[in-house]
Amino acid sequence: MIIVLKENPDKKQLENLEQWLKAMGLEIHYSKGTNTTIMGLIGDTASVDDDLIRALDIVDTVKRVQEPYKNASRKFHPMDSVIDIGGKVKIGGGNFAIMAGPCSVESEDQITQVAQAVKASGAHCLRGGAFKPRTSPYAFQGMRAKGIELLEKAKDLTGLPIVTEIMDISHLDLFENVDVIQVGARNMQNFELLKELGTVRKPILLKRGLSSTLKEFLMSAEYIMAGGNENIILCERGIRTFETALRNTLDLAAIPFLKQRTHLPIIVDPSHACGISDMVLPMSIAATAAGADGLLIEVHNDPAHALCDGPQSLKPEEFDELVGKVEAVRPFAYREGS
Ligand code: PEP
Ligand code: MN
Repeated sequence: MIIVLKENPDKKQLENLEQWLKAMGLEIHYSKGTNTTIMGLIGDTASVDDDLIRALDIVDTVKRVQEPYKNASRKFHPMDSVIDIGGKVKIGGGNFAIMAGPCSVESEDQITQVAQAVKASGAHCLRGGAFKPRTSPYAFQGMRAKGIELLEKAKDLTGLPIVTEIMDISHLDLFENVDVIQVGARNMQNFELLKELGTVRKPILLKRGLSSTLKEFLMSAEYIMAGGNENIILCERGIRTFETALRNTLDLAAIPFLKQRTHLPIIVDPSHACGISDMVLPMSIAATAAGADGLLIEVHNDPAHALCDGPQSLKPEEFDELVGKVEAVRPFAYREGS
């Protein structure tokens, strides 16, 4: 249930209302705009009498929220959330961020070269996998702790905040200097991992599961938010359909659909969505035009010899072209209400 207050509500009456709601075991989540204040009630509101609240002088409207994802819902929090990444980069609410880098950290030379190249082209964050979820147990599994160390070095060198994937909560200590913790598609419904990440205060990049509905995607964000971590960035990375021509099917309609329902920023990963480097530029332009808050792009200094996801990785010069074209599209991008 949400309660929209009238402008400048009487303090005493507001305190009384708060106390009454709390006494019913409800938690109150405030969202303050320039003119309106919204109280979001979390908990079992079944026994709350809407009419009684509506009759109060300080109350403008009362609405029941149907969505089971209350923290993530735009009804609860009408303004776009702006997520701060390492005090250097903002994403959401009109702030656009590009995260770029190799699928996996492979060596100091590789990550350093890619980090410097993507920085020069205008990337806002450096991505790189250290713990890799691979279909085959015999495929390269990532450099693990050493990979994170090398990302930290690249961060020191370039100043770019770093993004890397967590696969097991027991590794959390290793992520101390990581700016954004990625939850990969395969772990989108690893509920124990999501609950633990709710206790962390760093931004979480939550990727959509391979065959997850948008409602399930939002419910996974809700798991993290219910634990108190509201710094979530959603990532559409393609879903599995009957189509096999590309690695996945990029669901671009998810962007405006999610934007209507949630205040969380949404970025698009065309690299994993398509699996072919040729598709990354057109899909980046399309995602930007559809209103995405950013992009996640795989870039490798030598894609032909990459240990993981070479065919979908851009060369640094291709990434440079992409950044220019995406910037050119941004002024025309769709925005809710525009
Ligand atoms: C990745 O970003 O490297 C990755 C493994 O992506 P996804 O979880 O979307 O497959
Ligand atoms: Mn990859």
